[in-house]
Amino acid sequence: MLRPRLLSHQQSWNLQCLLRRTYKVLGIETSCDDTSLALYERLPGRPPILLDYRHASLNNSSYGGGIVPNLALRHHRLNLATLAAQMFGTDQPTHTLGPQDLICVTQGPGMPACLTVGLEFAKGLAIGRGCRLIGVHHMLAHLLTPRLLTNGDAPEFPYLSLLVSGGHTMLVLSSSVLRHEIVSNTRDIAIGDAVDKCARHLGIAERHMNGPALEQLARSFDVAVQAGEWQPEKVNVFDHSGVPVPDPRGITVTVPLRKGSDRTSVVDFSFAAFESMVDRGLTKKKNNVSVESRALIANQVQRAIFKHTAEKVSLAINTAIPRSSRERISHFVMAGGVASNLELRKAILAVLPKKWQFHCPPVELCTDNGKMIAWAGIELFEHEKLQSDLTMGPLPKWSLQSISSGTDWHVRESL
Ligand code: AMP
Ligand code: ZN
Repeated sequence: MLRPRLLSHQQSWNLQCLLRRTYKVLGIETSCDDTSLALYERLPGRPPILLDYRHASLNNSSYGGGIVPNLALRHHRLNLATLAAQMFGTDQPTHTLGPQDLICVTQGPGMPACLTVGLEFAKGLAIGRGCRLIGVHHMLAHLLTPRLLTNGDAPEFPYLSLLVSGGHTMLVLSSSVLRHEIVSNTRDIAIGDAVDKCARHLGIAERHMNGPALEQLARSFDVAVQAGEWQPEKVNVFDHSGVPVPDPRGITVTVPLRKGSDRTSVVDFSFAAFESMVDRGLTKKKNNVSVESRALIANQVQRAIFKHTAEKVSLAINTAIPRSSRERISHFVMAGGVASNLELRKAILAVLPKKWQFHCPPVELCTDNGKMIAWAGIELFEHEKLQSDLTMGPLPKWSLQSISSGTDWHVRESL
């Protein structure tokens, strides 16, 4: 018979977990420039309970013109162990990991060195604590994030997701946790990259992400028009047919891939031209542009970027997805950092079939984070019965479409 008084606080906690079949889940994300750790307690069938969350964002990696791998690597080296020490140094029995627990770590895609920092740290922790391990696909985690909020109930498969981040712009049809088809993708740079570059040309790039700054500047134009402070010569940046009508105080912004039958039928996105439109427009004005004009230009370019995105999403839904598949879809997810933009949400919502439910996770779950890695790990571990072992290495170019064949997951024997 057990004599609880002889058990340490820690041992008694572990015993309780075993009896209740709960286990802890640690999510580790280091694929890009966010170092993030999330610790959950999970009783299968119940919503996971967040025990702790630690996050350090580099934030200025886009400032110099894209992610700087060395800076991102240094950031993870400085932060990952420190954040983990804070998380597990709180002397709380609920935080300590043991053999019944699961460590979920981003295995790819991403920058090889950054992925390696997270993976090797996870392996060390798994050896030290005897935990189980699962390597997680970063984009899969973004796709499954809304299911975290409903404990896996919604959205139900199949569903469509638009991933709009600093590194990706893709429309994905997901039929199950492991089956995903990329319906359309960007031909050049990602939407977030375009937003950041345009903001830099407009001189509003700070040490932080530039998307929110561009959104704010663009909104200040709308507010000025509504308040009657801006007497527009041409308020609408586009006329009824979507053709840009430049206000002389703004610049000429055109929406790509919409002229000529060979281009109008393209379902892919293209964002590279927006930066040069802003650059060219400002150069024409000899960079002598008032604050008000900058607000108009921000408004023009943001509208054009989102108009293009919404147009191609609509085209893909109507032409690139077989009717039989489309009829089974009733959910649409938008995730990634740019999904926090309210104007983009409006633009996308406007082109979706009315019957579809629109899911947009809260901002802190839209951007890269350890919570989504933990949840994706739970789905892979519980539903697909998968696990990784200590030989796993980074998969910088892991394909979402052939997610299972591209990895070294193995089917686990017991929970
Ligand atoms: P992620 O790559 O998912 O971490 O998202 C980062 C990207 O989202 C960066 O390019 C940001 O500039 C962009 N972003 C974040 N918030 C917004 C916003 N409100 N509007 C537009 N872009 C945004
Ligand atoms: Zn991401």
